[in-house]
Amino acid sequence: MQEKAQTELVTYSVDEAGVANLVLNRPDQRNAQNAELLYQLNECFDRAARDNDVRVVVLSGAGPDFSTGHDLKSSQEEMAEAAKKRPSLSGWTDFEAPGAAGFYAIEQEIFLGFTKRWRNFPKPTIAAVQGNCIAAGLMLAWACDIIIASDDARFSDPVVSFGMPGVEWFAHPYELGPRKAKEFLFTSDRWNAQEAHRLGMVNHVVPAAELQPFVQQMARKIATKPPFALKLAKEAVNRAEDMGGKTMSIDAFFSLHHLSHQHNNVMFGTLMDPTGAPKMTRQKPRGS
Ligand code: ZN
Repeated sequence: MQEKAQTELVTYSVDEAGVANLVLNRPDQRNAQNAELLYQLNECFDRAARDNDVRVVVLSGAGPDFSTGHDLKSSQEEMAEAAKKRPSLSGWTDFEAPGAAGFYAIEQEIFLGFTKRWRNFPKPTIAAVQGNCIAAGLMLAWACDIIIASDDARFSDPVVSFGMPGVEWFAHPYELGPRKAKEFLFTSDRWNAQEAHRLGMVNHVVPAAELQPFVQQMARKIATKPPFALKLAKEAVNRAEDMGGKTMSIDAFFSLHHLSHQHNNVMFGTLMDPTGAPKMTRQKPRGS
């Protein structure tokens, strides 16, 4: 039985060219990701995967920011509640288990598990990024095949300031190169779109007003190509990355991520170091 009408936290539409537009729709919360939003996004991806008319997926965020990361107001109980009422996709269950076990299972399922699924989604995906793309915002953009940024886009993973080694999907060395990944993490700096482009993390930077026209035009171009060839080309590149160890190193990192969650729990009684927030200062983005 439907408990109540779901708020549309992600909107879904398909145009006549076969481009599915998935739009994060919590602009008042700067598209902060709670479990409900992530499940809705996952359902939209599944719908787009099954629809043979869909050739390409574009992921965008409504409002001034692409996504400011996980919704830190979401409680562990809320996430467990959202996860346990659906079939497990990662194989992890028992989301309310005591100690480290329950939260580990939650993050395996809805953070690491979803990001892996979307990265291996069987059709081309394009992220259209404007404004802030912070921490778990990066996970959504990095899961996509192509990233187009507007010139006002800002990227950061400031979680070292909160006693964590990085967000759950540790693609940083692959996205930025090892040295720049270390600088990005160690400093918590926000990097602008040009810097992200220079490092190869972003395909193109365009003026804000041209972001959607540019992305839709590219999506339509890709949508004319044979779908099976696109699927295999994507798989070929993803396998090449994986033969270099990408997925294995992300999985290995995940245990370090949880070591730090539990360290913070022991030290501060909370999953992140609460002294981090005051240390974060409003910074001028790099390159601005
Ligand atoms: Zn975490």
